[in-house]
This record gives sequence, structure tokens and C-alpha cells, in this order.
Amino acid sequence: MADNRPEYIQQSVLTDDWTRNWQDSIAVKITAVVMWVIIPFGFFIALLFINNIEQDIRVSIEDDAEIILNSARILLSENNSIYSPRVKNKLKEKLNKSIYCKIELQTQAYEPIVIHADRCQKPQKTIDKKYYFGTYVNRKSQELSLLLSRRPVSEMMQIYRANITLIMLFIVMILGFILTWVLRLLVLRPLLKMVDATRFISEGQHDIRLDIAQQDEFGHLARFLNKLLDQLFEQQKNLKQANYELMKEVAERSRIDQELRSNQEHLEKLIDDRTADLEIARDEALKANQAKTLFLANMSHEIRTPLNAILGYAQLLNRDSELTEKQHKSLRIIEQSGNHLLGVLNDILDISKIEAGKMELHKSNFNLYQLLTGIAQIFQEQCTEKGLKWYEEFSLSSTQTVYSDAQKLRQILINLVGNAIKFTEQGSISLTVKKIDNEQYYFEVSDTGQGIDKDNIEAIFSGFHQEPQGADKGGTGLGLAITRSQLKLLGSEIKVESETGKGSIFSFTLYLENVRDGIEIVHDNITEVIRLSSSDKVKVLVVDDSELSRNLLVDMLEDVNARVRSAANGLEALHLIEQADVEDKPDIIFMDIRMPVMNGIDAVRKIKQSYGDQIVCVAVTSTIIDQGDNEYYQAGFDDFIGKPYRFEAVFECMKKHLQIDFENKAPLLNENIETSDIDFSQCQIDKSLYDKLLQAAIDYNPPLLSSLILQLSTLGDEEKKLAKKLNHLLSQYDIHSLVNLIKCIKPVARLSKREDSSHD
Ligand code: ADP
Repeated sequence: MADNRPEYIQQSVLTDDWTRNWQDSIAVKITAVVMWVIIPFGFFIALLFINNIEQDIRVSIEDDAEIILNSARILLSENNSIYSPRVKNKLKEKLNKSIYCKIELQTQAYEPIVIHADRCQKPQKTIDKKYYFGTYVNRKSQELSLLLSRRPVSEMMQIYRANITLIMLFIVMILGFILTWVLRLLVLRPLLKMVDATRFISEGQHDIRLDIAQQDEFGHLARFLNKLLDQLFEQQKNLKQANYELMKEVAERSRIDQELRSNQEHLEKLIDDRTADLEIARDEALKANQAKTLFLANMSHEIRTPLNAILGYAQLLNRDSELTEKQHKSLRIIEQSGNHLLGVLNDILDISKIEAGKMELHKSNFNLYQLLTGIAQIFQEQCTEKGLKWYEEFSLSSTQTVYSDAQKLRQILINLVGNAIKFTEQGSISLTVKKIDNEQYYFEVSDTGQGIDKDNIEAIFSGFHQEPQGADKGGTGLGLAITRSQLKLLGSEIKVESETGKGSIFSFTLYLENVRDGIEIVHDNITEVIRLSSSDKVKVLVVDDSELSRNLLVDMLEDVNARVRSAANGLEALHLIEQADVEDKPDIIFMDIRMPVMNGIDAVRKIKQSYGDQIVCVAVTSTIIDQGDNEYYQAGFDDFIGKPYRFEAVFECMKKHLQIDFENKAPLLNENIETSDIDFSQCQIDKSLYDKLLQAAIDYNPPLLSSLILQLSTLGDEEKKLAKKLNHLLSQYDIHSLVNLIKCIKPVARLSKREDSSHD
């Protein structure tokens, strides 16, 4: 079989090293052990051998003695004349005594030959201890002599034993040497090779292989060892390969690491650069935002000032009851358009306020049910006009008074219901409000309109976003963004469920603090003021740099018999107050904020420093973006009216701070009216007045309604009662009932006196 091992492995470098320390040699040890066994065994064998020899000697001696005895008999025979008679006698004597004789006679003349003398181990009992005998043949004379040896047998045996022992020792040594040699050859050599192999392996030479061809255990062991080494080599090779792979991976990793680090550095640099860019961009955005805020403040001022004049003079004109119906209608259009413009402006300002984080809550006590029915009445009409069904469900007490921001809640609901009607062409609209817990209310506005695509639901809440259909219908796209922010401010969140083509449901849950029954409900006074009550005199100072705004307020206040003076800026106003006599000093100042020379804030600070509470200061401003109203109060203002304002707001403010009263066109709000059982269908109202009344009610135009109701009250007793009832409903914002009541009346087709005269 071919050897697949690498070439360097096939070279066996093992050699026989015979120069090892012999004491440590295992062969020597084995030999020593074997010798320890062999030597006593050898001695034992030798002992047996010696015994046998002694036995032989004894037998031989006995044989010899027999022969000697026979020989001696022959010698002693008569015809033997060699020996003297003395010798013969002596011999006879001896022989007679015992078979074994002891012959003391020793002929020194002959050289004695001891036969087998050293084979004796110990003397026989029957033999004398001291002497040994033997035959002696004199070769020259051919005579046989009996010879007694003086050498003791025991001594002979000792020498004999010593010689045997020496021979045995020699043999054992030779055997030991041969054994050691054989052991070395057969056992130690392969063992040493293995020892060497393991030593080299332990020193790291894994290419060592044993070339032991033996078929014995050593051969097997060597083969197993070689196999083990092969495996070790294979594993080492794999290990080296794995190590190489690992090193490669480590190198790759460190390269990636390096790359990552450099990327990170690059990224950090990019981030730094981007941060710097962003900071610049942020600064620019902040600047742009400031510019936008400034622009909005300016725009607000610039648009509101003329709008204030437009709406103000429209109101002023509306107070003139001598105007024709056509002129009133034109005025209504002016007011409606102005109000629409104001609504758009307010939306833009609201969103700016939200962005600037300046939107604030203005909480007051109000009747929730009343607010809801008011809204329902407005929209019910719109639904009817559009051919939609209107459903309302208010599951709460009609006297439920709560403390919250009524203005914002109204704006939220108007926006949601307004949208529902705007985006629904057929079907129905419903407004549901439920009290779900003590102070938790659930609001829901649903419609069967076009619905909103699911993907766009979130987008409709971002400012200026309109769906294509939404854009077709007009609007600014700000309503829902404002609604969401307002609800957030009120601690709630709006939810939408919508399906394209099926309709939408907008809902939210609101916490509204309950107010105990009996607390007065705060609401706008919408009855028309004619003049100051005769007992009251009021001195007013109007400060405004805009001649238009200034004149409007002056005209309006003069119209109700107030004593009015005016100034174009804060400094002028200060001079005027300082120069005025005590009795001419104003009771109340209506002060614009943004004015040249000295602005309203500085002027009020100075006025308050000198006059304290003697003069009431009211901020009248169209700039509502850059300052929250809290700032006006901090500056010293007692109240705040935003432009454009309704006259009623100015009169209410005067009433509140100066404890004065006004004469109103209509009966007082809290007048007790017992009219529920009156049948108003008997009232005789001419068609023209009726139409105007109905239109004013549908349009929700309180000033016009007040003037028409006043007109109605002059027609007769029944009509006066009707006027009282209508006025009452108007004061309660119950437009729904007001419209229904007007609808109950059958108009009479005849011209009023006034119309007659106008035609003349
Ligand atoms: P605007 O009404 O001025 O367009 P909004 O913010 O109130 O702005 O509404 C944003 C958009 O959301 C609308 O243009 C319209 O596409 C969509 N939208 C709002 N309400 C409804 C609704 N009830 N049904 C269908 N679409 C609606």
C-alpha cells in the first residue's frame, strides 16, 4: 500500500543509542531480577547435582570397596607372596572385623592416584571420616596395592562443591549476559525507539515515525503510535488551516474595523458638517420664522385695521333703522364678507399662534347645552338648504354649566360640522354629545359624505393640507390643524374613522369641569345699545394712530352719548391727560398697542404709575400674534378687545369696569317673560318685516334682529309680546326656537309705513 504521508514524515530519524546510562536500563533491571531468580535456582540445581555425584561416589566407593575387598582377599590368599605375612595378617585382621576396612598402611614409595576422590560430597557413615581409600596399581610392577589416603573426604567434598559453585556461577553469568543481550535486542530496542519518538514528539517534531517491523506488541504499539501521529499530523494540518483561516478572518475583520473606523470618522465629520449646516439652516429658519411672525403681525394689523373699519361702519350703519331693506341687505353682505375674511385671517393667525406656542385657553362658565343647541340651529338650517338630514343627540342636562374655553369648543364643533356639511352631497349629518362620566363628555360629528382616503387621514391634520376634493370646495386647509391643536390644549385628542364614499366620523372625549347650578352663565350681550342711560356720564379717551379706527370708535361712542376725546399716540394721550382738568380726565381709555412715538404698553405703564385705578385702560389691538393677552395685563391694562370688534364688546367692557348702564333697544335680557302659552299665530306682521326677520334669524344677525324686533314691538300688544319672546330667545342664543317661532307666524301682505315713505 502506498504511503500517503508527506515525505518529511517518512524519514525516520530514530537510532539505537547504546550509550545510555546502564543503571537506568530496563534490561539491566530485568536481568538483575532474572538473576535473582536464576542464582538460587542454579544453586539448588548444583546442590542436587552434588548430591547425585556424592551418591555416585558412595556407590562407586562401595563398588571400589567391594573390588578392594575382593582384591585384598586375593592378596591375602596363600599363594600370594608379594606382601609380607605381617601385612597379610594385619589386613586379615582388619578384613575380619568389618567388610569396610581401614587400612592405615601407606606406602610412600608409590605415587598415589585418587580415583574420583573429588566426587565425594561427604564421607559415608561407613567410611572413616578422615581417610579415604582407593586402589592403586603400580604400573611398573603390575601390582595392585590398596592405598589409604590421608586426605579427609569432607575436605575433598568442599573443594568439589566450591568448584561446582564456581562453574554454576560462571554459567549463570553467561546466561545472564545472554538474557540481557536478548532482552535488549527484542524488548529494549523497540522500547527505546518509542521513548525517543515520544521525546521528539514532545519537542515538537511531529514528523517522526517508528519503523518497527515486528509483529509483536511492540510492532502493534508502534503502528498505533504512527497512526496516532498521522491523526495528530492531520489534526495539526487542519488546525493550521483553521488557524490560517482565522488569521485571514482576523485580518479581514481588522480591515473592516479600520474601514468602519474611517467611515465613522467620515460620518462624524459629515454629521459635524451637517450639524453646522443645520445650525445655519435653523438660524435662517428662525430668522425666516421671525420674519414670518413679523409679517403676520403686520398683516394682521394692516388687514384688521381696515377690516375693523369696514365691519365697524357696517355695524354703525346697521344701527340706522331708517335704511331701506336693500341697503340692509347690502350691509349684511358687507358684514358677511368681512366676517368671512376675518375668519380666514383668524385661522392664519391661530395657526401662527399654535406654531409660536402662544395659543392660550380663556376659560369661563358657560351652558354646554345652550352652546350645542346654538351650533345645531346654525347648521340645521344649512343642512336643510343643502337637502341633507340633520340629527342631533345631546345626552346631558339642559342646565349643565361647565368651566372651559367656550370659544374654542364652539370653534372646534363649528369646524367639524362645517366640514361634514361641506363634504357631504347627500345623506345626513349628525352631532352627538354624551356625558359619559361625571366630567367626561363624548363628542361625535358624523356624515355620509365623500370620506377620506385611509392614507391621507394623518395628512389632513397638517396645516394647509387639502384633499383634491377639499381644494375644489375652497377653504384654507387649516381648520383641522387648528382643531387638533385646540383639542390638545384642552387635553384631548381627535379621532377619525372614515371610508371613501361612505362618510366620516370625527370624535373626541373632553374633560369639562362641572359648575354647580346657580352660578351665573357668562355670555355675550347681543342686544343693541341705544345710548348711555341718562344718569350716567362717561369720559372716554380713544388712542389710535389709525385715523379710520380712531374715528370709528369715536363715532360709535359719541353715538351712545359718551364724551369722547382722541389722540394719535401714547405720548399725545399722556399730554392730553396731564393737561386736562380733574373733572375732564378720562374714565376709560381705549388704547391701540402699536403706535408711533409711544406705543400703548409704554403709555399705559406711565398712566397707571400716575393715576392707578382712577383710569381704566383697555387695549384695543389688531396685533394679536406677537403678544399673548397676559402681557397686556402685566403692562397694566385692565381689559383687552381684539380688532375687529363688535360694538357690544366695547359697551360690555364699559359696563363691567365703570359700573354704568346703557339703554337697550330690546327689553332687558333677564326680563321675566311668561309667553309660552301665547298663540303668536294671531300676530299681524306684514310680509316685508316678516321676511327680514326670518332672514336675519337664519343669518344669525343679532344687531339686525334686535332692530327688527324693536320695530315689531311698536306694532301692537300681540306683536309686543311676540317681540319680547323673540328677544328672550335671542338673548338665550336659541336661534332654533326663534326661527321656528317666526315660521309659525302668518305674514300679512301689506306695505309698512316706513317702506311707503321710503318709496315716496
Ligand atoms: P378646509 O376645510 O379648509 O379644506 P380642513 O383642515 O378643515 O381644511 O380640512 C382639511 C381637508 O380634510 C379638507 O380639505 C378635506 O379634504 C378633508 N376633510 C375634512 N373633513 C372632512 C369630511 N368630513 N369629509 C371628507 N373630507 C374631509
